[in-house]
Amino acid sequence: MTNQKFKYQCTNCDKYYNESQVTYLCPECNKLNTPELPPKGVLKVVYNYDNLINKGITFKYLKQSNFIDLLPINSIESLPNLQVGDTPLYKINKVNNSNLEFNLYLKDDSQNPTYSFKDRASAVVSAYAKEKGYDTIVAASTGNAGSSLAGICAAQGQKAIILVPKLAPIAKLTQILMYGATIIPVDGTYDDAFDLSIKATEEFGWYNRNTAFNPFTIEGKKTVSFEIYEQMNFNVPDRIFVPVGDGVIISGVYKGFEDLLNLKIINHMPIIVAVQAEKSNNLVRNIGNDEFVIEESTTIADSISVDIPRNYYMAQKYISDYNGEHISVSDEAILEASSVLSKNTGLFAEPAAAAAFAGIIAYNNSNKIPVNSNNIVLLTGSGLKDLQTVSGIIKMPEAIKPNISELKILINNK
Ligand SMILES: [Zn+2]
Repeated sequence: MTNQKFKYQCTNCDKYYNESQVTYLCPECNKLNTPELPPKGVLKVVYNYDNLINKGITFKYLKQSNFIDLLPINSIESLPNLQVGDTPLYKINKVNNSNLEFNLYLKDDSQNPTYSFKDRASAVVSAYAKEKGYDTIVAASTGNAGSSLAGICAAQGQKAIILVPKLAPIAKLTQILMYGATIIPVDGTYDDAFDLSIKATEEFGWYNRNTAFNPFTIEGKKTVSFEIYEQMNFNVPDRIFVPVGDGVIISGVYKGFEDLLNLKIINHMPIIVAVQAEKSNNLVRNIGNDEFVIEESTTIADSISVDIPRNYYMAQKYISDYNGEHISVSDEAILEASSVLSKNTGLFAEPAAAAAFAGIIAYNNSNKIPVNSNNIVLLTGSGLKDLQTVSGIIKMPEAIKPNISELKILINNK
């Protein structure tokens, strides 16, 4: 692979492909895929690490060149003119008035242009499409990926077509329409929308952004790990808590650190803790099982509500190769964590992101996080994207007459 920037490697059969040979899944493994099981053949992008090491590249060099050596695009100019990534990492010292014994950091990815982590993926996919001359990008989405693609395409002058299951949260659908994308509600599940988007890709020649199908979504998502490494003063954190649905975000977090490991910039991986909702734990529940058993997902955290985790095999492989851990949390714990997080930090996260915070609370209760260890919780989306879910845990007060005596009565009764 001397002259090529990257190759693809199949997650399941390990076969390598050149960029010109394949666009989405490994053709060999994809032949055997069936709709009832997680797809095999998701491709990983593998760079010429030895070549980069021989060139003497350092993290500082990579950063200065906007990580172009570790992205599947030719020019940084192809990325949208929006601030994607470079999100803040906040250190939190107290929760509910108790000092924490371990170091807790929150990576706030709601600060991306469309208020979710997904912009990292959309930006790279959109840039690649631009370089290859595609003017239309299609995606199936339950909300965040769709609103993200719509926003990024608006910035790039590209057309976005988003197939959504009928029941996606209204805020996310509103966002998609406001960005001027074409939204096509599908009378079916996310999986139905996914399959239709693939047929549309073949029929109309559009570029497809679907996660665990397009290999570049992970290349975008991995950039969070480069930032975390830098924000931790060029140290690998001890643990990173990641909300998990289809297994793509966690694979992205792993891939970023794996790239740094392959380049010998770091010498070990962090422990990554996969956090799933108990009512949607098809990924972690099946780890180590011979047969994949699906339980219907009913969690309130819609962004991680997944029956068939599309990136199951890659996520499972990462978790097993790098001694990852996992934990499941109840919907009640997610709602409670959402409230604790907002009240203690000023960060209002969507339920899926609050699940990761619920994960660290549950983990500390059962395993006791080591004193002074560095722990990061990845907050993947803004709470404003799904107000309906938290409406049950807040009480909107009645209006009072606009006079001081009514206000006095109210305040004195508090
Ligand atoms: Zn394969």
